[in-house]
Parts: sequence; structure tokens; C-alpha cells
Amino acid sequence: MPSELPAKAEVVIVGGGVIGVSCAFHLAAAGVEGVVLVEQATLGSGSTAKAAGGIRASFSTPCNIEMGLHGLTAYAAFSERFDHDIDFRRDGYLYLLSEECDLAPFEAAVSLQRGYDVSVDLIGPAEAQRRAPLIVTEGLVGAVWSPDDARATPDSVVQGYAGAARRLGAVLRSGVRVTAIDTEAGEIVAVRTDTGTVRTNTVVCTAGAWSAAVGEMVGVHLPVVPVRRQVLFARPTTVPANLPSITAELPSTFYFHPEGPGLAIGFSDRSETAGFKDDYEPDSFLPALFALAARRTPALLDAAVAGGWSGHYEVTPDDHQLIGEADAPSRFLYATGFSGHGFMMAPATGEIIRDLYLGRPPPIDIIACDLRRFDNAGRRDEQVII
Ligand SMILES: Cc1cc2nc3c(=O)[nH]c(=O)nc-3n(C[C@H](O)[C@H](O)[C@H](O)COP(=O)(O)OP(=O)(O)OC[C@H]3O[C@@H](n4cnc5c(N)ncnc54)[C@H](O)[C@@H]3O)c2cc1C
Repeated sequence: MPSELPAKAEVVIVGGGVIGVSCAFHLAAAGVEGVVLVEQATLGSGSTAKAAGGIRASFSTPCNIEMGLHGLTAYAAFSERFDHDIDFRRDGYLYLLSEECDLAPFEAAVSLQRGYDVSVDLIGPAEAQRRAPLIVTEGLVGAVWSPDDARATPDSVVQGYAGAARRLGAVLRSGVRVTAIDTEAGEIVAVRTDTGTVRTNTVVCTAGAWSAAVGEMVGVHLPVVPVRRQVLFARPTTVPANLPSITAELPSTFYFHPEGPGLAIGFSDRSETAGFKDDYEPDSFLPALFALAARRTPALLDAAVAGGWSGHYEVTPDDHQLIGEADAPSRFLYATGFSGHGFMMAPATGEIIRDLYLGRPPPIDIIACDLRRFDNAGRRDEQVII
């Protein structure tokens, strides 16, 4: 029998992915009593379960660089802080550039990153091949090497944050779906679920790809759509030691990274349309993937195909997350639309939501994340999407 929901909460967090559990932990750690998180399925079973676990500061906007740096610092210290291993490995991100026109934007991004003390180098094709021996260099015009970028295991992070939040008194319930949010005179008064009602004045929407529906419950338009991403799992006969955390080619977005005993391989398939598509459909995705592999990593074509999976990116119109507090109703906070970067941004997001809840300035300027940017022509498109 699932435990009963508390009748009353200070704050109800809707969605138990990595963003929701980070918010629950950071609120509880700040001494907020009565934190309740509800998850319709199981903790971390949404997009978080499908993530590669990449953590990087190699972005093209100040806000994303700062949030990525925050994630790198927090995840490097996570195992010790929570006494919970998350398989953190700092093997770097390698970007392969195959078009001249990408050189200038990447040089600009590198210069911006260096302004935040990010360690990053423009390197040549031969050096790139030394770091990722599976690639061929034909057609490469340059590469960018970010040695401090990293990877960790998302499910371990979810369990680490969830356990710590519970020890601090937060209530986290799985198998509970939010069906409505009641308001009176512009204020939230209750969250209704399929297993009971919780009285509260504050809601944090961390519902990932499902966030638009949660926003609609209070008349807030959260422009987040699900877009399917498919990933192939391959078992080459040998995987070179010390491959980068992620190797990605642009503009094709073809990427690969070590995953258990093999490699995960994918790309951003621009023929995917928005919508919930839960199936892994190799026939619709492998021909294009193999064409990219044939050009950049021909050795991988001989690797045994050992399966694959699909998940959803939770995408906004400018590939930049939404973090803030709605104008109305009062105390409706949102942290969603991470557009493929939510795992690495979860530590920073938990701190930001904690500070918005407590009414104090967050550690990072989040003006670029505010929902109102779409009303004010203030969108800031992220360029480095993989
Ligand atoms: C193939 C793939 C690779 C990725 N690789 C990376 C990577 O390398 N690095 C990185 O940083 N990010 C990566 N991402 C993106 C990352 O997975 C997401 O940005 C992140 O997991 C978002 O976390 P979330 O908590 O917002 O969403 P989710 O994990 O989807 O959690 C939202 C939760 O809300 C719940 N929910 C929704 N509606 C309701 C409701 N009404 N009531 C109760 N619960 C509800 C859902 O069940 C879900 O569990 C990748 C994603 C994919 C698909």
C-alpha cells in the first residue's frame, strides 16, 4: 500500500526527475519544512533515465556556462558529500568541426568560456584523433577540446538527492499523478492528485517534457515540447581506453560515448517532430546514423549492435531552460525545458529554486531563463546543442 499523501505542504514539487529531486533536496537542506514531491511513475524514470550523463561548461551563453560549471563542481563533490557513488569521470568533451562556417562561432564560444576560467583549447584534427582514435580526420577543419567536462550516472544522482532529501524530512511519493491545481483570488490553495489532495500555497513545476500540461492547470503557458531522441548501443570488439566523456561532430550532431562495456551512439534527428513517442524504432533512425558513422567513425560499422533506447528532450523555442516564478498565480515556480541539458544543470537549478522560494538572489543570474523573455524578444539561443 502506498503511504498516504500529507494533507498539507509548504511546497509541492510536481515531477521526480533529476530536477525535482535536486529542488527537494536543496529546499529541505535550507530548512524548509513540509516539502512534498509527487511523481506519477517512479523517481528518475522520465528523460533522466535516458540521459547520457554528460556534464559540461562548453556552452555559448553566459548562463549555460555558469550553470554547467556549477554542475561540474557539484557532481565532482557529490560522492563525498552524500556518501553515494555516481561514477563521476572527468574525461573531457571533444567537438569535431567539419564546416569552416562553424569555426568563428566556436572561437567566439571558446573566448566566452575562457572568460569564466573554463579550460578549453582549439586543436587540430590530428590531436583530435589522438584523443578519440575511433575517428577519421577527413573533412575536419578543427576541433575543440574541453578537458574538464565529465560524465556521471543519472540514476545514481537521483537516488543520492532523493535519499538526502528524505533524511532531511522531505516527503517524496512515486505513483502519484497531479491532476489539477486549485487557485483562489490569484493564489494557489491546493494540488489535486489521483490519490488525494494536498493543501499548499506553492508549487514547483519540474515535470520535464510534461510541463506544458502542468502549466495549463494554472493558466501559465510553458512552451516545452517533447522531441524523441534515439540512441544505439554498440559493442565494438575493443573500445579505446580513456575516450572522451562525449565526442560530438558538428554540424551533424553525430556523437558517441563510452557506456558500460560498449558505446552509446546517436545524433539529433531533425526529421523528428514534437510529440510523445516512446518507442525505440531502429528502422527509422539507423540508416541515417550509419551514414554519419561511415563518414566519421567507419570502424564502428563493424561493431555488434546490442540494442538501443529512446527518450525525450524537453525542448523550448530557443533551446534554453525555463526557470523562474510566474506573474500569476503567485508562488507558481517552474524549472523545466532544459532542452537536453537538464542532468548537468540539476545542481544549479536546485539552488536557484531554493533561493526563489526563499526570496533571495540566486547564485546565477537567471534573466536568460525567465519565461517572459519570449514576450520581450529576449530569447538567447544556445548554439552548442548535441
Ligand atoms: C537520449 C538523451 C540523452 C541525454 N543526455 C544528456 C546529457 O548527456 N546531459 C544532460 O545534462 N542532459 C541530457 N539529457 C537531457 C536530460 O535527460 C533532461 O534534460 C533531464 O533529465 C530533465 O530532467 P527533468 O527532471 O526536468 O525531467 P524528467 O526526468 O523527465 O522528470 C520529469 C518527471 O515529471 C513527472 N511528471 C510529469 N507530469 C506529472 C504529473 N502530472 N504528476 C506527477 N508527475 C509528473 C514525469 O513522470 C517525470 O518523471 C538527455 C536526454 C536524452 C533523452
